Amino acid sequence: MSTQDIQRRRTFAIISHPDAGKTTLTEKLLLFGRAIQLAGTVKGRKSDRHATSDWLELEKQRGISVTSSVMQFPHKDAIVNLLDTPGHADFSEDTYRTLTAVDSALMVIDAAKGVEERTIKLMEVCRLRDTPIMTFVNKLDREGRDPMELLDEVEEVLKIRCAPVTWPLGMGKQFRGVYHLREQRVHLYSATHGGRIQAGEVIEGLDNPRLDELFGSEAEQFREELELIREAGHDFDHDAYLRGELTPVYFGSAINNFGVQELLDDFVDYAPAPLPRPAQERRVEPTEEKLTGFVFKIQANMDPQHHDRVAFMRICSGGYRPGMKLHHVRTGKDVKISNAITFMASDREQADEAWAGDIIGLHNHGTIQIGDTFTEGEALKFTGVPNFAPELFRRVVLKDPLRAKALTKGLEQLCEEGASQLFKPLLGNELIVGAVGVLQFDVVAYRLKTEYKVDCRFEPVNVSTARWVHCEDEKKLAEFKRRNEANLAIDGAGSLTYLAPTRVNLQLAEERWPEVAFTATREH
Ligand code: GDP
Repeated sequence: MSTQDIQRRRTFAIISHPDAGKTTLTEKLLLFGRAIQLAGTVKGRKSDRHATSDWLELEKQRGISVTSSVMQFPHKDAIVNLLDTPGHADFSEDTYRTLTAVDSALMVIDAAKGVEERTIKLMEVCRLRDTPIMTFVNKLDREGRDPMELLDEVEEVLKIRCAPVTWPLGMGKQFRGVYHLREQRVHLYSATHGGRIQAGEVIEGLDNPRLDELFGSEAEQFREELELIREAGHDFDHDAYLRGELTPVYFGSAINNFGVQELLDDFVDYAPAPLPRPAQERRVEPTEEKLTGFVFKIQANMDPQHHDRVAFMRICSGGYRPGMKLHHVRTGKDVKISNAITFMASDREQADEAWAGDIIGLHNHGTIQIGDTFTEGEALKFTGVPNFAPELFRRVVLKDPLRAKALTKGLEQLCEEGASQLFKPLLGNELIVGAVGVLQFDVVAYRLKTEYKVDCRFEPVNVSTARWVHCEDEKKLAEFKRRNEANLAIDGAGSLTYLAPTRVNLQLAEERWPEVAFTATREH
């Protein structure tokens, strides 16, 4: 049975620029998956358009909850896993790592705005692994840009061929519906009220007189336009989609629940089942009998009372059963896992099983790091989960010196999540936090206060960039350490890091120590 269970998994994430409609679409997908009954249940992490303080408040309201990180629901014969990614650009690292745990992605584009900056960045990340992409052009109920022009832009800017599967009939006030090019039927647009699923009338065939009856002379116009689309020859090619070279495109209006059914139906048919994953030693096939998986995300304080932390593991092969023993490859220890969290959205009980493609949450007491591999005994290391060198650095200043221990503990736990990184310089007692986005410092200070009762602030520090350092030659490394003690620190994972006050300083150090490798990403 397990092969069948694995083949029906579809694990994906939505990529988009803030405001394109990711949250709205997520909610509608859950609605179709019967995972929620009514719209308005999914609270987005409202991001760029809010001030930081608002954002933090909203984040709190939304709850730092496990359940919204992974949403699992059945559709047709498939089990769909939708992985949430944070919208704010300052959390992009988290998003990049989540994209290593999916098999495909869904790109949402605002019909009025076209291809936007965050979408370009996220597509670059998907490119690294040739992730198959489906596209949903959203907000057709508003005046937007010419659909043909939008597809040209996607092809040109994102360097991916487009194959429209549905095509919009009009837009804005004149939005009539979508035409399914393969199935040759028109799905009439009807705005929804109250967020329930509602299907508009379906008209079979473009020649159907019902179209003339409804739209008069417009019907003829649609026929001509669709003739042009067909002649333009953007045929859907499943293999090209699976190779990441072509994206099927759907049009609709997420907020009106329109065009979403077509998208989801095709998604479960076309999107890849769990794919093989590269490990350092070999390639791992999803249908292998034994469980393997890697941790792509850690979240602290799901329950602030207990400082519990959850490590999210993507299962790459085999299946999970409660009580099974897993081998934690980095530490060499075996652990019995009896209470992993699973994510069936409608029923949040501890599930009895999970298969390759699924995500499970492991309770972490500080031993698990992002990037760690778990197996049933094999020494295996999955590759490709990156850790980026931070670009901003601050010194932590504690307001109450008696809270020093709590501060270190809080920082260690929050930095395990990977969005910010903790550095302990070899000299002195200072703690330095590095991040990719400035919002991280506010988040860390806020969470230290609310989750660890530690009041602190962040001050500028004379560090402009960090590099992880390695050297095969132990004698050389010892000499390097002795001569550069003032610039060296240990990061949260115990790795040696060079904190450079300026770019020039870094360059000089690299020239002076050719035997030492300085790297800007650390493979977890
Ligand atoms: P996110 O930032 O990508 O998660 O975007 P949201 O889902 O929060 O949507 C951003 C805004 O666009 C919200 O005000 C939504 O109500 C609105 N929106 C989403 N989908 C549609 C749509 O299909 N039509 C219209 N007119 N507005 C939409």
